[in-house]
Amino acid sequence: MREIDLHIHTTASDGTCRPREVVRLAAEKGLRAIAITDHDTILGHGEALSAGLDYGVEVVPGIEVSTKYGVSVHILGYYLENLIPLLADVIDDRDRRNEKIAALMAADGLPVSYQNMKERFGEVIGRPHFGRILVELGLAENMNDAFARFVDRGQRYYVPRTIIPIETSVEAIVESGGVPVLAHPFQYKKNDRELRELIELCMDHGLRGMECRYSGYDEEQVAYLEGLADEYGLIRTGGSDFHGDNKPHIRLGTGIDNELDVPYAWLEELKKAAGVTK
Ligand code: AMP
Ligand code: FE
Ligand code: FE
Ligand code: ZN
Repeated sequence: MREIDLHIHTTASDGTCRPREVVRLAAEKGLRAIAITDHDTILGHGEALSAGLDYGVEVVPGIEVSTKYGVSVHILGYYLENLIPLLADVIDDRDRRNEKIAALMAADGLPVSYQNMKERFGEVIGRPHFGRILVELGLAENMNDAFARFVDRGQRYYVPRTIIPIETSVEAIVESGGVPVLAHPFQYKKNDRELRELIELCMDHGLRGMECRYSGYDEEQVAYLEGLADEYGLIRTGGSDFHGDNKPHIRLGTGIDNELDVPYAWLEELKKAAGVTK
């Protein structure tokens, strides 16, 4: 039986399950604890925490912030006490970017209105929502195709958004009372030296943990990351990056090929770092 999953997206960002559904699914799978880590928002926490009480699943409030470090690097934050002041700007900027994407589509004659999208998908809209619409309109075969041909960098409907520097993001999470954790370290295609540089830079600004187990990471990769975490005195975390139907190959709690297995003991370390007792 799997114990926890500390990396999950809901409809508050680009997941397709509502926070309550995610908690129900977690209970069904026998998970003891899950963290809600939506992109740039904590709007899913309220519903998830209350569902957690109903279903007997411990819900950890979290966030995933996209940051700039050459490539885009994601920082997870757990147990934030107050909203990052910066976050409002990030969300405003995303909003303006989305307006532009919708306008580009409308200019091509597609029946797309940002207002309608907000009514349908909620506050935080991302490229996956545009991808979903392109699939629905029959212009793309699936989400990957929609990204590859329309919304990825360099494609017709790509509009960049302002992304905050990595140092600022790590500090903002610390200032908000949260525990910053480097997400999915293999996603950045760095060699050992480069990854160490990234870790050391983040640690200079308050990084406390590293995501060592993640959907698709094999035993060798996990062992390497856990070794690095130990060496640097970082807390180990792990999660699936569940997005519901937006990434249908990823399963809550178990990953892609049942390879994911995150022990509850790791959450205890995280709670200690956050000063959470219970
Ligand atoms: P945004 O933050 O709106 O620019 O959108 C970025 C998000 O799109 C990422 O956080 C991913 O979750 C998602 N994404 C990126 N590439 C893909 C893809 N090929 N298929 C599905 N989702 C993707
Ligand atoms: Fe996402
Ligand atoms: Fe991520
Ligand atoms: Zn994620």
